[in-house]
Amino acid sequence: MVQKDYYAKFAALQDVAQDLTHELAAMKEDISHVLEENAELKIENEHLRSRLAELDAKKETELPESRRTLEKLYEQGFHVCTVLYGAHRENNEECAFCLDVIYGDRKQQ
Ligand SMILES: [Zn+2]
Repeated sequence: MVQKDYYAKFAALQDVAQDLTHELAAMKEDISHVLEENAELKIENEHLRSRLAELDAKKETELPESRRTLEKLYEQGFHVCTVLYGAHRENNEECAFCLDVIYGDRKQQ
């Protein structure tokens, strides 16, 4: 009788252990996918950052001196458009006219 109980308990524990083994295997697989995805995203992020740096550098070198002066004024909070030239931009609000004056012919990009 006692031996039979031990056997049943052992079999039950073995089932639990097997379930755990399966779960651990599945979890390991999931972790492996997540790590893989993380590595891919890191690489993609690096590419995007370097592309962004390239574009920023290009932007600075491409803008003619006169436009850069206007851009600086605009960044300091002043209108450079014909409508409100020299006026202060309230709360640094964007102005479509100013942006058109500074970057107007580069919209096609
Ligand atoms: Zn403006």
